[in-house]
Amino acid sequence: MRACCDVCGTERDCRVVQRDETYPVKGDPITVRAQVMVCNECGEDLFNARLDDGNLERAFQEYRRMKGLLAPKDIIAIREKYGLSQRGLAALLSWSPATVARYETGALPSVPHNEQIRRFRDDVDYARELFGARKDHLGRLERSRVESMLRQLPEDDPPQDLLLQYLMSKYSAQEDEFRGRCQFDVDKAANMIVFFASNMRNVVKSKLLKLLWYADFVAYRRAFKSISGMAYCHNYYGPIPMEHEVLIWHIQSNGMIDLKPHDSGKGDCVEAIALFDDSLFTGEELQVLRDVCARFRSATATGMTKVSHREDAYVRTQMKEPISYDYAMNLKAIQ
Ligand SMILES: [Zn+2]
Repeated sequence: MRACCDVCGTERDCRVVQRDETYPVKGDPITVRAQVMVCNECGEDLFNARLDDGNLERAFQEYRRMKGLLAPKDIIAIREKYGLSQRGLAALLSWSPATVARYETGALPSVPHNEQIRRFRDDVDYARELFGARKDHLGRLERSRVESMLRQLPEDDPPQDLLLQYLMSKYSAQEDEFRGRCQFDVDKAANMIVFFASNMRNVVKSKLLKLLWYADFVAYRRAFKSISGMAYCHNYYGPIPMEHEVLIWHIQSNGMIDLKPHDSGKGDCVEAIALFDDSLFTGEELQVLRDVCARFRSATATGMTKVSHREDAYVRTQMKEPISYDYAMNLKAIQ
């Protein structure tokens, strides 16, 4: 590669080197790994517009990252999600159209503008409020696109409520014989998990799933009704609640339990954070929980797998098949 060197006063061979350079961005010194062209003969830096633009862009990126500023592609994505033109987005936010255009081509947003558009993205109520106040500034087609987008967005449900809706729909899709003739009750399911996690030491997840199964099936055997209304299926290591990942995720995201790696490295231990709420359960149900706890207190996860593999509920069902509560009548390990 050859370029004109001002120091040598002639065209010279040159090379690109990488080194840390500091650029002022809005008054802050920002250091990035820069690419610089140098003369092979005298070692001076040579100006190169393409490399210089790249270095500045890296400094801007680093500044955005430090200040939590949205990138051009983020702003374009927010605008396109609502089917808005640059003019339309500007109208909703009370900005000038030129401002939106500049932010989308790489200019750094001001902090108040950054906060405003971030809120427009993350807070549906705020987006609705802006739209209500400023929709007359939009064209007819743009207005109807935003309107239909806002209609599709959930009210203001936090994500865990969507998880809960999903769980409800999965469990209610099962017939009664698979739910223990009982409506699914997420609070009871969550508190069963809290009960086992707070009354046993180092309960790994795979053991917990079988404790839930035994508790629901023992309750059904004794009173013809499960405790949680959960549906269970046949899996490699024994019967497990269907959709248990979503259930555990939901309970964890509500701050009731936490998962910690087990000392042995064999899976996650379930730790109770919330206190067990015994007011949700009948005396008979509490007795079932205590009995299951006492029976399996010292069992390892592997031990529980072996025990559950001997149950008719497991022997007579296929992989992934839902398990009928009718098998509760033949429980062997605990009655
Ligand atoms: Zn030179």
